[in-house]
Amino acid sequence: MTMSLSTDVRMIKGVGPQRAELLAQRGIYTLEDLLGYLPFRYEDRIHFSKVKDIQPNGTYTLRVRVMSGQAVRSMRGRDAIYHLLVQDDAGGSLPCKFFHGGYLEGRLKPGQLLILHGKAEVDKLRPARLEMVNPQIEVLSSEEMDSTEVGRIVPIYEAIGTFGSRQIRRAMYAAVQLIDTRMLDLLPEELRARLGFPSRGEALIQTHFPGAGENLDALNTFRSPAQQRLIFEEFFLYQLSLALDRRATRKENAIAFRVREDAVREALKRILPFKPTAAQKRVLAEIAADLEKRAPMNRLLQGDVGSGKTIIALQAAVIAIENGTQAALMAPTEILAVQHFLSARRVLAKAGYGVELLISGLKSAEKAAALERIRSGEAQLVIGTHALIEENVEFARLGFVAIDEQHRFGVLQRKRLMDKAAAHGHAPHVLVLTATPIPRTLSLTLYGDLDVSVLDELPPGRTPIVTRITTEPHLPGVWEFLRREVAAGHQGYVVYPVIEESKLELKAAMKEFERLSKEVFPKLKLGLLHGRLSSEEKEDVMQRFRKNETQILVATTVVEVGVDVPNATVMVIEHAERFGLSQLHQLRGRIGRGAARSHCILVAPMRMTDEARARLETMVRTSNGFEIAETDLLLRGPGEFFGTRQSGDLGFHVANPLRDRELLELARREAFALADDSGQTQTLQRILRALPGEWQRRYHLARVG
Ligand code: ADP
Ligand code: MG
Repeated sequence: MTMSLSTDVRMIKGVGPQRAELLAQRGIYTLEDLLGYLPFRYEDRIHFSKVKDIQPNGTYTLRVRVMSGQAVRSMRGRDAIYHLLVQDDAGGSLPCKFFHGGYLEGRLKPGQLLILHGKAEVDKLRPARLEMVNPQIEVLSSEEMDSTEVGRIVPIYEAIGTFGSRQIRRAMYAAVQLIDTRMLDLLPEELRARLGFPSRGEALIQTHFPGAGENLDALNTFRSPAQQRLIFEEFFLYQLSLALDRRATRKENAIAFRVREDAVREALKRILPFKPTAAQKRVLAEIAADLEKRAPMNRLLQGDVGSGKTIIALQAAVIAIENGTQAALMAPTEILAVQHFLSARRVLAKAGYGVELLISGLKSAEKAAALERIRSGEAQLVIGTHALIEENVEFARLGFVAIDEQHRFGVLQRKRLMDKAAAHGHAPHVLVLTATPIPRTLSLTLYGDLDVSVLDELPPGRTPIVTRITTEPHLPGVWEFLRREVAAGHQGYVVYPVIEESKLELKAAMKEFERLSKEVFPKLKLGLLHGRLSSEEKEDVMQRFRKNETQILVATTVVEVGVDVPNATVMVIEHAERFGLSQLHQLRGRIGRGAARSHCILVAPMRMTDEARARLETMVRTSNGFEIAETDLLLRGPGEFFGTRQSGDLGFHVANPLRDRELLELARREAFALADDSGQTQTLQRILRALPGEWQRRYHLARVG
């Protein structure tokens, strides 16, 4: 039988129907998919460590025999610790401990050969002795010479359900034998030669089963030439899609706005409620320069929480309106959309512009009227949520689009809003606002098709926020502090870790709300805000808080983005250890918006993980959003950081934008150079034609080719 990359995984030795089902859950259906499932770690099983040489805290791979093993149940009888004693060829013996190790009982027999991989630790009870706690364990089969198990650098795969690392390795070994090194290679030959990368087939073989001479450290840090080539390839194809996208948009025709005319300048001045900061002026100038061109603006505005992005979006909207087009502002939550609507009405309606709110919570008659005003052009600035991109929304002449807190939306949603203008034969100018400051290299991966402006200055008159960590037993003191702040005329938030807005979580928050209202602050007025309230209820709660009719707002993370009530000076975050760093930073950004000194109090349990502690301490150390984002990335890794939606959009298998920054920059330069080089059209066409369907889907390339 002949095999090709699209061969069903079931045809591969070691993969039966059952395992194929497990693989399918990971999106692995074909030989090609399987080959894309890469080892996350490697072990040197040529040069095993000796028990007598191991040192505390070192990590070792040992080849040992089982001497004895025994499970010891805890008093309550549920959990077992499995104690294992092993010995290597040189006679050195080592005790091992497996917590939750009951499953090992009866599985390990004296004399059996094992590979152990783990960290040597000092036995706490007998400090003179070393042990391994929960080492990775692999039982060697009788045919010891199997070349996938020992005598080489061995790849370790993440198990897929019951399909263990060792069995995956065997199947992979069979799969790798089927690789034709002349297989399709998407990287242009010239590029590959210039950068010294191996061919795709060679790279896959070497990544799964590296040669004996390969550097183990390089492999374990994804720095071997084979791995680097696969990483580069992912970045390169992704950047190529961005480059082509950008080329396509540049060709489109937007409306070139007049921005220097006196009437426009006057209008811009008229709406300004305050003196803009130098950074705001600079950014507006950058935007204005884009708006003057026929090529559509495609700009990202990064600015820390509270840096004053909203007014810039409104000014750009005024330019669009003064040029006879409509503007749209899309926000990720209703609370935020309503807030933007209120402040836009404050500054724009006064100047005679038509401002419209479009959220799904509108009554149907209201909604129909709003849609009609949008269609007729009477609505000049339309502010809303996802409701804006619904099909029934038609603009008379949409010229400018702003998207607030872009990290909450996918790339596709941005495109859909842009399409609303395309209906009239022109592309809109687009401004994307984000308060999740992303290090530059990473913003290139996410927003590689956008130009970037940075608001790196806070409006004047802000007093720095004081942040401190406290533990639950000190809550009474925290409430006392909040009471005093309220007595001084201020307001405060108390946030609970209701993240999924599940019924169970909400119940806990509501109970706390009751308790705070009745027992802790019986003399004050409290509001409760959560995601399950109707739009009207939410707006009602916010309205009362804005007017200082309620002094304390008990809330879930729905207050996280954008909420702006300058009189609020206290932010108490309960179970702060459960929030991510960027989320904590966003929450803290709700205070410190006025001249009075604000306080952020992070309440955590006495015991928490080191990682949680590191997060909270970062909050105390700095209020710089860029620094916080960097730390967040380091602590969580980019997948978590960007949230599933974004990383799903990117869909990298091997590449890690944080770890592989340099390759990312290189790939970006090469991809953009290729896309812009008219002499290379043929190479480009060849790549686009040859791209497997999965890649086309992943990178939205089909449409561009
Ligand atoms: P963000 O960048 O987080 O969206 P906002 O646009 O909500 O920030 O602005 C935060 C607060 O600062 C708002 O109350 C806004 O009115 C105020 N603000 C913005 N720019 C200035 C300025 N130049 N001078 C004074 N206050 C400003
Ligand atoms: Mg904002």
